[in-house]
This record gives sequence, structure tokens and C-alpha cells, in this order.
Amino acid sequence: MDMDSTFFIYNSLSRRKEEFRPLDPPFVGVYVCGPTVYGDPHLGHARSAVTFDLLFRWLLASGFKVRYVRNITDVGHLVNDADEGEDKILKKARLEQLEPMEVAQYYTNRYHDMMRMMNVLPPSIEPHASGHIIEQIELVKEILKSGYAYESNGSVYFDVENYNRDHKYGKLSGRVLDELQTGTRDTEGQGDKRHAYDFALWKRASSEHIMRWPSPWSEGFPGWHLECSAMSTKYLGEHFDIHGGGMDLLFPHHECEIAQNTAAHGSDSARCWMHNNMITINGQKMGKSLGNSISLDEFFTGTHPLLTQAYRPTTIRFFILQAHYRSTLDFSNEALQAAEKGLERLMKGVAAIGKIKPSAASTVDVAEFDKAWRAAMNDDLNSSVAISVLFDWVRIINQLNDGQQQITAADLETLTESARTLVFDVLGLQDEAGNDRMELVGGLMGLILDIRSSAKANKDWPTSDKIRDALTALGIKVKDGREGSDWEFC
Ligand code: ZN
Repeated sequence: MDMDSTFFIYNSLSRRKEEFRPLDPPFVGVYVCGPTVYGDPHLGHARSAVTFDLLFRWLLASGFKVRYVRNITDVGHLVNDADEGEDKILKKARLEQLEPMEVAQYYTNRYHDMMRMMNVLPPSIEPHASGHIIEQIELVKEILKSGYAYESNGSVYFDVENYNRDHKYGKLSGRVLDELQTGTRDTEGQGDKRHAYDFALWKRASSEHIMRWPSPWSEGFPGWHLECSAMSTKYLGEHFDIHGGGMDLLFPHHECEIAQNTAAHGSDSARCWMHNNMITINGQKMGKSLGNSISLDEFFTGTHPLLTQAYRPTTIRFFILQAHYRSTLDFSNEALQAAEKGLERLMKGVAAIGKIKPSAASTVDVAEFDKAWRAAMNDDLNSSVAISVLFDWVRIINQLNDGQQQITAADLETLTESARTLVFDVLGLQDEAGNDRMELVGGLMGLILDIRSSAKANKDWPTSDKIRDALTALGIKVKDGREGSDWEFC
């Protein structure tokens, strides 16, 4: 196989880049951990969503048939990772005096709105944890049967030590049990667990915990890690191609998922584990407690005190894509303003392809352009390199328009097609600045045609004709009809 058309992905499990070979081509199963819906989507959500949208789009552009499952966590994600504390959604509901499902629905809708604005494609299936309680209870039964779980006071916990004896716990994160043991020697808050590193599969609900379901062990709720094991198996089978999520989910969430799947089915689910890196803000970790967690809505409206202006959704998308997904990405106003300018230059360049006049011969190698950006995408989704290739070609496009370089009609067609595929299909960029300008043109045209119809009503033919002729000279055709005048570009 041609090296350039072989897709390599970095597998967090093997810690190296691997050639991507689907289990059942042309079908590809992808599972990505979606948001816990208890707060407004922020830049961290955007980075994960855009990263896996890029994967989804690249697989589709490469001719695969993709089943892309991205879940909604609406139950079981507790305030701290040690299986203690309140459910995140329940806490928000109590503070806002809402039904927990009202909170989940509201923030699910917000997430969808923001993703649509950022041109993130919807997944093929979007399962909710609360809609899969039966599957999760069945999975707990399987794990109990395997001997790698125990019941304690109405809750069920995964027996990490026992599991570790037969399988290696920590193969994804590289953490070993001894370290986990010393890290959590404090037994306070351990509750009904045998060991602090054991994790909940099912939790008995306290009297004030209203998100609860009946089970063989107690009225309670599933542990957070369980939902992804249950739902990925339900929609993609016990073995599938790619499992993704943010780097913050690698431990304990994904490590626990691997242990659950191995306990229940004898082996891990995904062939390839893929993680996007985190976003820092002015070099600092992003977090609510640090006061630097900026929501997407605040970016789009410019209402957060750290922001000097509002940013378009496509600018945020472009800013994310300009870095490789495994690099950290530092937000600052300067970085976003540079992304804004870069995107504008890039979109103008792509639009300028339409103005190139073909010649009898080519002095540019269009095939090289197509090959270069595809090779970058095949190299672990390196959008950063693909974008820099495009910038090089924006310079060449300008030279073609200036007559410094020549291109044949056939090459021009290839260039147009290749650039459009990269910019719109693969990178998913939108020409928002161009769209804004088109809106302005529409408003101005309405005004001009109004003036012209007043002139006609006053039988001021010279003015009416002058407007029509001037517009024709600008490439705009005025169509007079019974209902008034309309216009189009010639
Ligand atoms: Zn998950």
C-alpha cells in the first residue's frame, strides 16, 4: 500500500503510531466520551468535539462507513473521582431548584447549539446514560459472575486487586497498583470499599439522592465508568475500532472501562485509544475554581472579563485545528486574534481560486498540494501541517492571479476540488466573515432597489436606468417583475 494513503493513528494503549486497519472494512466503529451535562460547554468541550469531528470527517473523506457514537452523561458522574460526593447534575439541580433531568436537558440543548455553531457534525448515535440503566445492571451482573467485583452494603465495587492478579490493571495509564495504594493510604471516605482504588459499579442511593433505579442490590445508580462500557458494547459490539476522549479521561475513567470490559468479555473493547490534549489559559490549567473557565457562549459574545473581544465559532474551531490534537493548546487573546487573521487570509485565498484564469501550461504542481495535505492528515490527523500546506498555496494562488505563475484548466479544476475538500469537508471551516459580508451586500442591494423603484414611480427614468446599468457593470443583474425587483450575480 502507498504510504501516503495509509492512515496512522497514535494509540494511547501501545504508546506509538499504528497503521489504521478497521476490524470490518469499510465499516468503522468509533466511541467517544461526550459531555457530562451540568454546565455550559467550554473550550475544553470544544477541543474534544472538534478533534473527534476531524477524525469522523477524515474517515468519511477516506471512504469509510462510520458509526460514530458519542454519549451524553446525565447520571452517575460524581463531584469527585473517588466515588464520593454528590452527583454533578443533582448538585446543580438542587442549587437551581430544578428537576435533575431539566438540568441535563437544558445543557444537552446548549451543547448541541454550540456544536452546530462550530460546525461539529452530529454523531450517528447519541446514547444517554440514564436511558441504559438495564444494560448497565446486566453488565454489573456479568462482572460479579467473573469474580472481579463484590457487593458491599447495597453497593457493588470492582475488585481491582483481584483483577490485577489475572490481568494487568493500569495498562493504559501506566499506573501500578503499589503507587495507587500509597497515593490513597488515607482510608477516610473509603466507605464500603475494601480498597480505596476499588471503584463503584453500582451505588446504593442515600435518602436524599433522587436519581435512583431499582436493582438486585439496592435502589441506586450506576458508577460513572460503567455507562461507556455498556453503551459501546450495545452499539458497536464487544470489539470495535477507536475509543476516544480527552486526556483527563485516561485515568481513571478509561482505565476502569478497560477493566470492566475485560472482566465481562475477557478482553478490552477498542483496538485503538485516542486522547486529545488539554487547553491551558495564559499558561494555566483551566478550571472553575481558577476563575478562568470561559464558556463557548462567552467566547461568541465576548462577555468574559479575560476576553478583549467576541470571537466567531469558526475562529475557535480554526484555533483548535491549528494545533495538533496531541499538543497542549494555550489560549490567549493574542493567539485567537492571530487565528482570526489567519483564517480570513485563508478564506480569501480559497475564494481567489475562482478568479484564476487558466493558461495553456502549468508552472505549479497541483498534485503535490493534494498529496501533501492528505499525507499530513494520514499522519495522525496532523491538521496543523495540513493548514500550513494550505497557507503555502494561498501564496501560490495569489501568484496565479498576478500572472506570476500559470495553471491549465484541468489543474485548476483539481486545485479547486482539492482545496474545497480540505477546507470545507475535512477541516469543517465556514466562511463566516464572507457570510457576514454577503448579508451586508443583501441589505445594501435592498436599499438600492428601493431607491430605484421610487425613481420609477416618479417616472425618473434616467435615474432608474443609471442604477440598473451601474449594477450590470458590477456584475449584478436586476430582474424586474410584477412583484417588484430582484437581483442576482451574473
Ligand atoms: Zn466515557
